[in-house]
Formats: sequence, C-alpha cells, structure tokens
Amino acid sequence: MKIALLIPFFNEEAQIQLTLDTVIPILADTGLDFEIMMIDDGSKDQTWHKIEAACRQDNRLTGLRFSRNFGKEAAICAALDEADADAVILMDGDLQHPPQHIPTMIKLWQEGYDIVEGIKSSRGKESLLSRMNAAVFYGLFRRFSGIDLRDASDFKLLDRKVVAHWRQFAEHDTFFRGLSAWLGFKRKTFSFDVAERQKGNSKWSPFKLLALSLNAITGFSAMPLQFITFLGLIMLAVSFVLGIQTLVNFFTGHSATGFTTVILLQLLIGGCIMISLGLIGIYIARIFTEVKGRPRYIIAQDTRDENRSRTEHQKAL
Ligand code: UDP
Ligand code: MG
Repeated sequence: MKIALLIPFFNEEAQIQLTLDTVIPILADTGLDFEIMMIDDGSKDQTWHKIEAACRQDNRLTGLRFSRNFGKEAAICAALDEADADAVILMDGDLQHPPQHIPTMIKLWQEGYDIVEGIKSSRGKESLLSRMNAAVFYGLFRRFSGIDLRDASDFKLLDRKVVAHWRQFAEHDTFFRGLSAWLGFKRKTFSFDVAERQKGNSKWSPFKLLALSLNAITGFSAMPLQFITFLGLIMLAVSFVLGIQTLVNFFTGHSATGFTTVILLQLLIGGCIMISLGLIGIYIARIFTEVKGRPRYIIAQDTRDENRSRTEHQKAL
C-alpha cells in the first residue's frame, strides 16, 4: 500500500526543508510505502531549486513546477491528477496542518473510511477581520449550497477511488473543500489546532480570498440568481401599494405630488437593475471560462522526467 503526501508551495524557500524534515520521519514510521509530491506554484524565489535538490537526494520525493502562479486550487488539481497511490493526503506546506495527525488519518483510512478530513478546532492566530470574513463566507455558502463547511480545511486524506471520481470533474474553477464534501463517500473527521506559521507569511491577499469566496459560492449555487426574481417581486409589491395610495389620494381630492419620490424610485430601481446585471455577469463569466476549456494549470518541469531521462540515458550507455 502506498500513500502520497501532496504539498503545494508558493514562495516557500525558507519553509521547504523544515517541512520535509518534519514529515519524512512521520511517514517513514507508518511503515507504508510513500511518496511526497511537491508542487511549485510558480514561485519567484528559490523554491524550485530547493525542491529539485531535495528530489535528487531522495527518490521518494517528486516535484512539479507550474509555468506560472496558478493558485492553490490549481496546485491541488495537479497533485490529484498526477499522484499514483492508494491514498493521498493533502497538506499545506507551511506546517499549519500539523503532520503529527498523519498516522491517525492513515489509521482511519485503514479502518475503511474513504475521506478523512481535518476540522479546525481553533483557527490559530487570525485577525478579527479575517475571522469575520470567514464567518460571513461560510454562512452564505451554507445557505446557498446546503453544505456546511464551517471550520473545514484542505487537510484531507482521500482514498484512490475518491481521487478517480475527482479526476472526472470537467469543471475548471474547482473549490476543493466544497467539492470533496459534495463527493460523499464514507467520511470521518478529526480535529486539529492550526499551528502557527514559522517561516514566511500567508500567501492569501484579501483580493485572492474574495475571489475564492465568490468562485466558491457561484460555483455551488445558482440561487443568487433567484435574488433577482425576489427583488423584482418586492418592487412589484411596493409599486402596487404606492399605486393604491395614489389612487386613494386622487379620489379624495389630494393631487399626487412628489418629484423627489420619482427620482428616488428611479435611483432605487436603477441600482437594483445594475446589481442584478452584475450577478448575471458573474455567472456568464463563469460560463465563459468553462467554455474556453483552457487547461487548469501548465506543468513546466517535472523531476520524474529528469529521473526517467537519466535512467534511459544510463540504459543507452
Ligand atoms: N499556496 C499556493 N499557491 C498560492 C497561494 C498559496 O500553492 O497561490 C500554498 C502555500 O505555499 C501553502 C498553502 O498553499 O503551502 C497555504 O497557503 P498559506 O499558508 O499562504 O494560506 P493560509 O494558511 O494563510 O490560509
Ligand atoms: Mg498557512
């Protein structure tokens, strides 16, 4: 039986060796065959050189290098596409997902669970704003998609058959945390404390996080579109009441006044229409990117190719 540990790295030159030194003994202790696949998500620093050097030292390590930064979701997709193991474990490269839990995850998998997922029992050191953002996002996501992802993380073990189903997804804009919940299967959770990052800093900018949240919600639910219908209905009801009021005024001899009201109503309706168009626009943009069908990521370098060509070279000699 073979386990693959999949780790995305983006500008983590200071972190890689520390992560490897921590996880290799833990994996070796499990007594199972293992592979560690590192994905360099288009780093600008020495990340790739560090990965290459580590792979040269240890043939249980593999490195893939993206042609540019495609984002963590893409790195997860590449890792799941390329890994060849009976179970894969996804983990952040910064040790915020404590690898001490790996043996427990493997044990649960051996007991027959297909997906073992880490639930954050505390969110570690995080700003109030970031906590609030997370609360709003998960609230909206639950309301719209019916999937509760509160405290869910990307720290997961997936059985080979789950990965096979994942690979059949044709969608371009994936949201790993949501999709793995959507897949179903026999699942088990365990809780972990988010560790503090030792080197470097978080790679998420508020803009990237907002984009991920929007993507996640619109990728899982078309319900925001129904808002437009809902808005229209409210408008209709309000205008009905206003109409009756105007009629009553007219018949009781008060002439209808209110130029300001007309302008305010115009502005209100204009605002609603623009928001609605924007909402439709978001979905059209999604259709646009999906229809183009561009690859999710581009792998520019693969340490396995180098190994392969090296052995072929040796054979030729
Ligand atoms: N990461 C990546 N591509 C990106 C951003 C992040 O591969 O565009 C990786 C990063 O190297 C780390 C993991 O995703 O291994 C989690 O990122 P980070 O620690 O910055 O996120 P946070 O813990 O703040 O959610
Ligand atoms: Mg982190």
